[in-house]
Amino acid sequence: MAGARVDVLGAGIVGLTVADELARRGHDVVVVDPQPALGASYAAAGMLSPAAEVWHGEEEILRLGLASLALWPDLAGRLGTELRRGGTLLVGYDAGDLQQVERQAALLHRHGHPVELLGRAGVRSAEPSLGRVAGGALLPAEASVDPRAVCEALLGRVVLRGAPRPGTDVTVVATGASLPQPWTGLVTGVRGEILRLRSDDPPRRTVRGWAGGEPVYLVPRGDGRVVLGATSEAHEAPPVVTAGGALRLLAAARALWPALDRAELVEGTARDRPATADGLPLVGPSGADGVVLAAGHHRHGVLLAPLTARLVADHVETGRVDPVLDPRRFAGTPEGVR
Ligand SMILES: Cc1cc2nc3c(=O)[nH]c(=O)nc-3n(C[C@H](O)[C@H](O)[C@H](O)COP(=O)(O)OP(=O)(O)OC[C@H]3O[C@@H](n4cnc5c(N)ncnc54)[C@H](O)[C@@H]3O)c2cc1C
Repeated sequence: MAGARVDVLGAGIVGLTVADELARRGHDVVVVDPQPALGASYAAAGMLSPAAEVWHGEEEILRLGLASLALWPDLAGRLGTELRRGGTLLVGYDAGDLQQVERQAALLHRHGHPVELLGRAGVRSAEPSLGRVAGGALLPAEASVDPRAVCEALLGRVVLRGAPRPGTDVTVVATGASLPQPWTGLVTGVRGEILRLRSDDPPRRTVRGWAGGEPVYLVPRGDGRVVLGATSEAHEAPPVVTAGGALRLLAAARALWPALDRAELVEGTARDRPATADGLPLVGPSGADGVVLAAGHHRHGVLLAPLTARLVADHVETGRVDPVLDPRRFAGTPEGVR
């Protein structure tokens, strides 16, 4: 459909990127959100990590993530926001943690993905701010962005309204972890607690690791800011940062990064990640006429935003759908579309 009138519900990174892509293609787009950019996108670390984040059984995420990572330089360039390259350093604190790194590296090797195993000395020279670790691996292609800066730049480019317009051709539902009826059951919230610090000795690049079995990551932003994340727990209660969650993150990070002790603790944030039953997003027809879903991006919404935007815009224009992401795959299931 050319020149479509489109309302996008939800001004998180997904809805905003979709709206921007549709507007760029000449469609008439408004975004509706009572609390723009304050959902999961406000908490997100902003890692563009298709490989470091992939686990067994999530190979589709690797494929989608690599396709979306390739779109990020263009998007960041257009928005004038920083894209930090330099890769991800995976590290293991002790021998058991190093086994996790090696398992991850073996999985990536099997998929033909570049990964360079590093011994203790290799990790130390790649990342002098780290303390003594058992070893690690470098994933050179990965990057990161500041999702708050990205959303702010996108908010400057889209039209925001208080309520949906009558007579739209298409409504895109991009409301993150809280989908309206009848799609509510397709997404559940997975709580993530995350801390923001300021340090005089930040890591140079994203560091992901395990310390005593506890997963943890550090994402430097520049000018000493470091994001430390993140817990992951299914939860019904309102999202708050718990003392226990913060303690686990700080203890794991401190084992890897001694400069943590001197760092200023600037902020703690908790939000729900929008998770689906099969771990893949919902991008495409909802089952209701004129309603398209762009939701359920769980741990990868920042990474997958530009690919989602392209898929939604292609769908609006041509009707094309990526079958792997088609929300109608849940038709007839307990989560069910209809
Ligand atoms: C701690 C943490 C760390 C993360 N780190 C990363 C990372 O490093 N890399 C990565 O790729 N992903 C990461 N994620 C995941 C990522 O944040 C999400 O996948 C992504 O933000 C989802 O974006 P969204 O736009 O779908 O949802 P949200 O950002 O939650 O936005 C949804 C918006 O919809 C609005 N809304 C809700 N209901 C309505 C309604 N009825 N009408 C209109 N608007 C409505 C809300 O106000 C909100 O602004 C992280 C998540 C968390 C919690």
